[in-house]
Amino acid sequence: MSKFLSQKLLSLKPYVPGEQPRDKKYIKLNTNESPYPPSPKVVSAINSEEIKDLRLYSDPDLKVLTETIADYFGVDKNCVFCGNGSDEVLSFAFLAWGDKGVTFPSISYGFYPVFAQLYNLNYTTVALKKDFSLDLTDFDGKGGLIVFANPNAPTGLSAPLSSIEDLLIKNPESIVLVDEAYVDFGGESAVSLIEKYNNLIVVRTFSKSRQLAGARLGFAMANEELVSDLNRIKFSFNPYNVNRLTAIAGAEAIKDDTWFKECVFKIINTRGRLTAELRNLGFNVIESRANFVFAEHPQLPGDTLYTKLKEKGILIRRFNIKTIENYSRITIGTDNETDRLFDVIKEILQEVSK
Ligand code: PMP
Repeated sequence: MSKFLSQKLLSLKPYVPGEQPRDKKYIKLNTNESPYPPSPKVVSAINSEEIKDLRLYSDPDLKVLTETIADYFGVDKNCVFCGNGSDEVLSFAFLAWGDKGVTFPSISYGFYPVFAQLYNLNYTTVALKKDFSLDLTDFDGKGGLIVFANPNAPTGLSAPLSSIEDLLIKNPESIVLVDEAYVDFGGESAVSLIEKYNNLIVVRTFSKSRQLAGARLGFAMANEELVSDLNRIKFSFNPYNVNRLTAIAGAEAIKDDTWFKECVFKIINTRGRLTAELRNLGFNVIESRANFVFAEHPQLPGDTLYTKLKEKGILIRRFNIKTIENYSRITIGTDNETDRLFDVIKEILQEVSK
């Protein structure tokens, strides 16, 4: 770092994203991207005319995209906010509502503490239970901004909608942010509650179930006043936060519901196979509601599995956190990738048992 860096940023520990290696071709099961391409309608909408129009700024109000999302989810267009990935939406939320303190689970998306540090916010965490589940009543009385991913990452476990509603009722002075990055793979969405509770914000991404991680698009749904808070930040930061091509891609991805459902269906099926096969091989696999599984093997340390898989061309994700250091988070790939994963894991298990 330079000697000019602001004092305020000296102790900041930036987020470390999963590897995006360029050295060789890996089977990439490490960053929860979709193994399937975007809808063909997305691909044909990004045509040369649209590319030529890149000389123009994007629509600061993202009218078409916002209305398409609003129609699809049956909410008012003023209740939708789009950002440059859900990371940007989350970051704006921390900035907007975090100064009375932020609370999130001790094991969850690794960006939450980074946003809190970036904006100098006080934050506390609530511990997961022994089985890695999250008891939402542990957030009661915390005040400020309450943030959790549902389903949670990296566990894949989800909390029922009724417990979210209880949390909203018991904590009307807190903002409750539900990060639904993985909800399409089997969680219960809280979107139906945004009209009823003015302290709820639901955050979604196009990166996982809509095949657009590289386009960087996320959005939030909440009552109009909360959305206007986010717009206040956006228009003080980057009014053109979503680029022209991404705005088109996002609207087309929403409109092609068949493609979306087919991809989600295939991923859920493969997740079932992966879970069963890993269990056959002696892994303890948490029942996932997301597009990844979280698993450990009693005879195979997490770092050994990670290193050996990488040597053999497969990338997965693990975390250097004491309680989960033996666990691996494995993104659901295609069926072929999953077959290859089984073969390689069998080889590794043989190697370590010698
Ligand atoms: N929330 C959770 C729980 C995530 O795992 C991720 C992806 N790493 C994100 C948000 C951010 O997704 P994106 O910025 O790609 O929309």
